[in-house]
Amino acid sequence: MIRITIWNEFVHERKGGAASAVYPEGIHVALSRGLESHDFAIRTATMDEAEHGLTEQVLNDTDVLIWWGHLAHDQVSDEIVDKVHRKVLDGMGLIVLHSGHCSKIFNKLMGTRTCRLKWREADEKERLWVVQPSHPITEGIGEFIELDKEEMYGEHFDVPAPDELIFVSWFEGGEVFRSGMTYARGRGKIFYFRPGHETYPTYYSKDVLKVIGNAAKWAAPANTPVPVYGNAVPLETIKSKKETSV
Ligand code: ZN
Repeated sequence: MIRITIWNEFVHERKGGAASAVYPEGIHVALSRGLESHDFAIRTATMDEAEHGLTEQVLNDTDVLIWWGHLAHDQVSDEIVDKVHRKVLDGMGLIVLHSGHCSKIFNKLMGTRTCRLKWREADEKERLWVVQPSHPITEGIGEFIELDKEEMYGEHFDVPAPDELIFVSWFEGGEVFRSGMTYARGRGKIFYFRPGHETYPTYYSKDVLKVIGNAAKWAAPANTPVPVYGNAVPLETIKSKKETSV
């Protein structure tokens, strides 16, 4: 069974206002309920818990970490970010949602200024087109996903070229955005998925939840080889240069 930890900074939803109305118990709880139908072992973690809820034990017991943050990126401890970074390089899957594009962990894994993109809050329609229909992340999805109201993110998005581009979004106001992308870092698999502004009911969308569930299955560690680094004993007898030189 795939073990998922859903991490949420859990700040917006406790401030009152639109985010509290849409996600009264927090985005992490909504996601956790939305993913219940899959065969996952799900736990949640939030920023105000000890070690942000991401203790060594929790990370050791996590196959895939889902990350939602926005207002409090700077308050996430560098030590925890370093720990998560190492875990990803060692094979833990990571799904970064929406404004998590600006998180320390995504920035560190990408190596570019991932905060940079266009944005606008105008209650506009988003249509996420599937551009990689052979990919398991798109299983069970139609040709596109339509969200009636979302925040707009527009190109250019300052990320490295992805390994695989899965979704491209179109917005009513005219912009486009690479809204579903995969990256390999070390032995870890990373999926960035754009939708999920805190004031819209995006994480109740069946299609959006389907994609996140598919992504968790895709990103879970596989039984792939563990590379050995450093000075290497030859596998064959190497003829000395003297013998081979004429
Ligand atoms: Zn947002």
